[in-house]
Amino acid sequence: MGAPGVGKTALTRQFMTSEYKGTYTESNTPDLLEPERNVSVLLDGLESTLHFIAEEQHPDFEIEDIPIDAFVIVFAVSDPASYNQAILAVRRLREEVRTNKAVILVGNKTDLARQRRVARHDAARLAKKYHCRYAETSAALNHHVDELLVGILSQIREQISPSAS
Ligand code: GDP
Repeated sequence: MGAPGVGKTALTRQFMTSEYKGTYTESNTPDLLEPERNVSVLLDGLESTLHFIAEEQHPDFEIEDIPIDAFVIVFAVSDPASYNQAILAVRRLREEVRTNKAVILVGNKTDLARQRRVARHDAARLAKKYHCRYAETSAALNHHVDELLVGILSQIREQISPSAS
């Protein structure tokens, strides 16, 4: 989830080059799950496939209607409007949809340090208030992108099988 232009596509592309990438490859059948957005991740000796679905490309779907394991809300730290949109998305998930699933807030474009308009501590405070993880990344520099990928998978594994980790 997140405003257009914040780097969702760039982050997903970087996931494909992750050092945690596993061996699994998806067939090329076009469907809702967009095969090009599937990435297999090898973590702690276990391979998992993550399917990333961009909300803006499926404006008609209802969040409640599809089996989602985690929500990733991206904004650009250089773009306050995208942060405001992220705030609304976090509130919508926690207060309207009332999901207990993992929600990860991501401040992307940290390489644009001089254009930063959203303070790290503000976003971290928002995340804490709504029981979300907060991560900062630069898809452009591939900075902290692997950590984000591993963090998403760890959170999903934790909620599926809390005793396993
Ligand atoms: P999306 O609409 O959220 O999928 O955004 P895109 O991934 O298409 O990115 C929008 C623009 O931002 C593109 O020109 C990207 O090259 C650029 N971009 C994405 N991530 C970063 C980043 O971390 N830093 C910088 N400087 N630019 C980025």
